[in-house]
Amino acid sequence: MPDHEWNDFKWQMRNSIKTVDQLKLHIPLTPTEEQRLKNVTDVYHFMLSPYWMSLVNPDDPNDPIRLQSIPSGKELEVTSYGEADSLDEKEDSPVPGLTHRYPNRVLMYTTNVCSMYCRFCTRKREWIDGDFQMTRPQLDAMIDYIARTDAVRDVICSGGDPLMLSPVKLDYVLQRLKDIPHVQMVRLGTRVPTTLPQKITPELIDILERGKKVWVQTHFNHPREVTPTAAEACLKILRAGVPLNNHTVLMRGVNDDPFVMLELMHKLTASKIRPYYIFHCDQIKGAEYFRTSIAKGLEIMEYLRGHTSGLAVPTYVVDAPGGGGKIPVMPNYIVSVSEERWVLRNYEGMMVAVEEPPKPLRRLRRRRDRRPVEGVARLLSGDQPSLIPEHLLRYTRRAQHADAAQPTLVPHA
Ligand SMILES: *Cc1c(COP(=O)(O)O)cnc(C)c1O
Ligand code: SF4
Repeated sequence: MPDHEWNDFKWQMRNSIKTVDQLKLHIPLTPTEEQRLKNVTDVYHFMLSPYWMSLVNPDDPNDPIRLQSIPSGKELEVTSYGEADSLDEKEDSPVPGLTHRYPNRVLMYTTNVCSMYCRFCTRKREWIDGDFQMTRPQLDAMIDYIARTDAVRDVICSGGDPLMLSPVKLDYVLQRLKDIPHVQMVRLGTRVPTTLPQKITPELIDILERGKKVWVQTHFNHPREVTPTAAEACLKILRAGVPLNNHTVLMRGVNDDPFVMLELMHKLTASKIRPYYIFHCDQIKGAEYFRTSIAKGLEIMEYLRGHTSGLAVPTYVVDAPGGGGKIPVMPNYIVSVSEERWVLRNYEGMMVAVEEPPKPLRRLRRRRDRRPVEGVARLLSGDQPSLIPEHLLRYTRRAQHADAAQPTLVPHA
């Protein structure tokens, strides 16, 4: 087809793949698989733009792009812990569609339409209601709550996908929020730049820019999603003065590998998108097969922190069941502690003693009681400042520098 069609999001939407019969034209399916998928799609619908489909490797049933988007028979296998609303979002809802869980920020549900239906979605429960957008009065009720609740400084518009709202409605929401003085920022959580980047049109950019307080939270999960087309769409958003932060969901078979995650974080930062969160996969009915252990997430974080730019290291969070909110988890960097010092370790395994500031009233440990100690206790005792693992590349480099002639510094005349 001509480029102008491919680059037109309306063409992409008109030609999106929504039925198993259409899917068969793109990927091989046995008759049994076909029947299984029809059973799944009776419960959980799907939709792929031709653009997204072009990223799928049709010959690989375990392709990470495919796993996220093409229905799987596993969606109907229920486990003991999968829940429709594992985060109890409905419990913390003062007005329908609005979740007020944290002191100064609210989550606003705007539509359940998405540019793709991710198989791992936390809001899968909403899909059975069919496509809908919040009506103007429903949006007004949420915005009125925000307007009369001074504590709210940060509004997160989610869904579904707020960038799938009609432009008139999106503009209306952003303009009303712009006019509420205590609202300092508005975040739009969206997968449009990833799955339907053609929809980032000049008209949409204009709406985001006019919204003044807008930030966009993108959602890329695999390095192959960060295509030149997606990166270009993100750059257009950045040019409108809208900062970009990314969410990633940790998923079995998709990105549960430290080097895949590292590559994703590098591609994001190379496109000026700041990795914000890696989410542990929620306990969602119909998406259990994507879950990894928390240990996998910690292992990944160990491969990121220190090994690459701090800006490329997101926070790994577990969204607590029962409405506890997001809880950050990371490898342990605190090795030990006494009243005088902390023993911390860095990513290389180097352990250092960090002195506490002196407390005038603290009784100092008497020197004569001290006996020689070994290992970590030696750092605690103050006898040694650090413990350094052998064979660190950094120390090999230092040795090389020491051998090289030092340049002579000539002061300016
Ligand atoms: C994630 C979330 C927020 C925002 O959390 P941040 O840590 O500020 O990004 C707010 N409300 C709800 C209900 C959330 O799930
Ligand atoms: S874009 Fe977000 S809300 Fe929509 S299906 Fe994917 S994860 Fe769920």
